[in-house]
Amino acid sequence: MQDVEQQLKQYFGYDTFLPGQREVIEQVLSGRDAFALMPTGAGKSLIYQFSGLLLPGITIVISPLIALMQDQVDRLQANGIAATFINSSLSSGERQQRERAIREGRVKLVYVAPERLLTQTFLSFLDEIQEYVGLALLAIDEAHCVSEWGHDFRPEYRQLGRLRVRYPHVPAMALTATATERVRDDILAQLRLNDPYIHVASFNRPNLYYEVRQKHQGSYRELLQLLREQNDSPIIIYCQSRKSVDTLTDDLCRDGIRALPYHAGLSAEERTQNQDSFIHDNVSVLVATIAFGMGIAKPDVRAVIHYDMPKSLEGYYQESGRAGRDSQPAQCILFFQYGDRVKFEFIVAQKEDATEQLKARQQIQHVVNYSEGIGCRRRALLAYFGETLEGENCGNCDNCIRPMIFEDRTIDAQKFLSCVSRTNQRFGMKYIIDILRGANTQKIRQLGHDQLTTYGIGKDVSAEEWGRLCRALLQQGLLSESQDGYPVLKLNRLSMEILRRQREVEVAAPIERPKQDSLSP
Ligand code: ADP
Ligand code: ZN
Repeated sequence: MQDVEQQLKQYFGYDTFLPGQREVIEQVLSGRDAFALMPTGAGKSLIYQFSGLLLPGITIVISPLIALMQDQVDRLQANGIAATFINSSLSSGERQQRERAIREGRVKLVYVAPERLLTQTFLSFLDEIQEYVGLALLAIDEAHCVSEWGHDFRPEYRQLGRLRVRYPHVPAMALTATATERVRDDILAQLRLNDPYIHVASFNRPNLYYEVRQKHQGSYRELLQLLREQNDSPIIIYCQSRKSVDTLTDDLCRDGIRALPYHAGLSAEERTQNQDSFIHDNVSVLVATIAFGMGIAKPDVRAVIHYDMPKSLEGYYQESGRAGRDSQPAQCILFFQYGDRVKFEFIVAQKEDATEQLKARQQIQHVVNYSEGIGCRRRALLAYFGETLEGENCGNCDNCIRPMIFEDRTIDAQKFLSCVSRTNQRFGMKYIIDILRGANTQKIRQLGHDQLTTYGIGKDVSAEEWGRLCRALLQQGLLSESQDGYPVLKLNRLSMEILRRQREVEVAAPIERPKQDSLSP
């Protein structure tokens, strides 16, 4: 293996492999299919670039992002490696010239977008390559795009399995930074990997501190304070919509923070400019929508703040993972408001496909569970990716640093459950809360629910607080919710035990986050 290390030095200038790289490369060089699940920054690109370089023939790299293709090819060429890309940005003259170079075997690595790859013309071109020069390897980057259960499904990726059938003897490898177990299985099946070597790296990022704050009217002040305490270190703030990005950027600038916006509503030029200003430290804060930011590679981001709720935990892991790439301490702070879910519901309801709707709701539910969770955040995040965190306490998240205080809420829980029971388990959370709080609505009067003994018995507790209790009951499995269409609360065995006074209910108290001590982990 002496050789390989020399070649690593020669082509890429590195002395050693990063963890996992060598193992996967060796397997691929031996002709075996492979699957690598490694966090962003772990060095996945080098795996297929280096393998492709050493294998005889041409390696096809399938990558969904045209901007990243250009970037990678530029860097490879700068290292003297014969790489090129073919995509819709090329003139036909330029494309033909590149295709000629490929056919003549003057290129080792060819980057191509999946939609082009599966056109008849390109497939015939691949046949020619196979015949004259030989295909060395099919490398599928961002392989989670294959799965409808992932966060970035691309229908074209679904078709990539066809390639495998067409070239059964060409080894294939899939790489991704995000995949739950379900997505992982989907990738292996869809891409028809054959007895692949599987490498799964740890997703733990010990230098990242995780915290969730309740979002409320004063959150903007809190955010401002956070930014000021960070003293101009680079920070990314994520918002849900372009509009909220623009508003927040304006507000921050008015308050003396050097911030720039980043979203799809800006021209490509503006986006590049703003990104460059951020990368070169001309501004300290970049306010971005979730859809964008894919290309931002800045190692010293000291905090990633989600000012709105993310759509999925996978997305959250990815986005928050842009903090602390330099392995120095950095913060990941999520401002959570259960009400944000309502905004999502609007988007979810517009999806036509029922499976899509279900998937989106489940993904949001995972975010809610994470945010309202009372255990270690790191453990919860890693568990989502099927990874178990060793030990009791990570010591670097809000819940571990400052454990929650629990309150006995048995009486309130009994009131709530009894109201669910008396309305025959046919309603959702909001309606039950209306009855408990004695709301004077037409629906309640029409159904005669103002005559129930539970009507108005919960006036002393705010609607928000009832909601928190209900969600805690659901989370602790003390109450169930049917999910066919409209969510309806259902009593289960444990709910009955509470009603019969055989079980007590403890719920984490809403605590004011400490202003200072949570900031420096
Ligand atoms: P990923 O695709 O997994 O997100 P990249 O391939 O972009 O990661 O690599 C992340 C960084 O690590 C890049 O800057 C790359 O140049 C660097 N890198 C890759 N392999 C090595 C290595 N063996 N030694 C040092 N740095 C490496
Ligand atoms: Zn923890």
